[in-house]
Amino acid sequence: MTLLHQNLHLPDNPELSQDVEPPASVVERVGNGSMLSSNISVSSQLFPVSKESFNFLQTHFPDATINEWSSWRWQLRNSYTSLQSLSKVIQPSDDELKPIDGVNDMLPIRITPYYAGLLASSKAGHPIRKTVVPTIQELSLQPGEASDPLSEEEYSPVPNLVHRYPDRALFLSTGFCPTYCRYCTRSHMVAKDKCHIGKKAWEPALAYLRSHTEIRDVIVSGGDPLSMPDSHIDYLLAHLRAIKHIEIIRIGTKVPVVMPMRITPALISILKKYHPLYISIHFTHPLELTQETSAACERLANAGMPLGSQTVLLKDINDDPAVMKKLFQGLLKIRVRPYYLYQCDPIPGSAHFRTPVSKGIEIIQSLRGFTSGYAVPQFVIDAPGGGGKIPLLPEYVQGYEDNNLLLKNYKGKIFKYPDVI
Ligand code: SF4
Repeated sequence: MTLLHQNLHLPDNPELSQDVEPPASVVERVGNGSMLSSNISVSSQLFPVSKESFNFLQTHFPDATINEWSSWRWQLRNSYTSLQSLSKVIQPSDDELKPIDGVNDMLPIRITPYYAGLLASSKAGHPIRKTVVPTIQELSLQPGEASDPLSEEEYSPVPNLVHRYPDRALFLSTGFCPTYCRYCTRSHMVAKDKCHIGKKAWEPALAYLRSHTEIRDVIVSGGDPLSMPDSHIDYLLAHLRAIKHIEIIRIGTKVPVVMPMRITPALISILKKYHPLYISIHFTHPLELTQETSAACERLANAGMPLGSQTVLLKDINDDPAVMKKLFQGLLKIRVRPYYLYQCDPIPGSAHFRTPVSKGIEIIQSLRGFTSGYAVPQFVIDAPGGGGKIPLLPEYVQGYEDNNLLLKNYKGKIFKYPDVI
C-alpha cells in the first residue's frame, strides 16, 4: 500500500502565501554597507540572528535582507538542492561529489540556508555536514537493509496512517522536509521531495481515527509537519482535536533545528489552541544548539508545550559519550528533555552511519549516575519488521542471591535489594 497520495503542493504554491509571514525585524540590505544588529532579543517579536548566521548571509546572499533571511518561506525558496549549489558553501570531497552525479532516485538534497550556515567552509568529516551531504557510501547496500525497515506500510490500514501500537497512531502529514537527513527512516516516503500531501488525502486517516476509539495518542509526523503552511497545520490539529477520544497530540519535527524562524508568533498562536500538545524535536549534535534554535524552543516552551528530543546514534557524528553529554545537557538548558536515543535504522546505504549496538549502551552507561537523570534518554532499537521500540539498558540487574536482587550501580559496585518474591 502506498503511503503517499498525489494531491501535492509545492512550497511556492500561491496557497502557501496566504499564511502570515514572520514578523519584520531589520530591513537594511546586507550588501549595502549598513551595519546590522545581530543577537536581536527574542523577548521582543523579532527573531534573533546570530553572528554566524549574519556572516553567512553577508557572504552567500549579499543582496538579501535580514527580513528575508528571517522568513521561513525565503529559507525554503533559497534552500540548497544540488551539490552544484552547495559547492558554493563547501568544497565537496571526491566521496561527496562523484557518486551522486546522475543518481537521481536517491533521497534528494535539501538544506536550508540557515542550516547550511552551520557547515559552511567545513571539511568533509564535519559532523553536521555528514548528516546532510550525500556520499558514495549511500550506494553500498548491505544485508538486512530495507527501504521500509519498520514495515510501516504493513501497519498502514489507510494511506498516511500507521497503527502499530494499541492506543497510539502515527499520522504521516507530509512527505516534505526543509532539510533531508541522509539516514532518514522514511527516506522511502520523502524521496520524491513532493512537499505536502494535502487536506483531501488526509481524510481516510482522519476517518480511521474517528472510528477507532482505542486510539488516545496521535503522533503527527511525516516528513516534517511544521514545514506545512499555517492553514494546513491549523486544519489538521483542529480535526484531530475534534475527535473526543484523542487525549494527546504529539508533533515530530526538526524544524526548530533546521529552520528555527518557522516558529513564528502566528504558528505559536495556532499550536497553543490544541493542548495537550507535545513536541518531539530531532536533534543530532551540540553544534545545533544555536541562538536561533534556542529562541525557537523558548517560544514553544513558553506556549506551554512540553519539549522532548529524539536523537539517532550516528557513527563518527555523535557516537561519543562526551558529545552526547554536551548535547543532552545543552538540551536541558533550552528546556528540551532528551527522550529517545535511537539505534540507526537499516535503510539502504546506511552502513556507514550505523554503530554497534554496544556503543549506545556504552553511552547510556557513561551518562547514568554521572549527570542529571533528565539528561539521560532511553536508548531504543525500533525493531525491523514492525516489532516496535525495544529499550536497551546496561546490565544493572545482576541476578539473585537468596532473596536479594543483585544490582550494579553506576560505579560498578554491587548492592543487594531484599526483593519480595
Ligand atoms: S527531518 Fe526527520 S523525516 Fe525529515 S529527513 Fe530528517 S529524519 Fe527524515
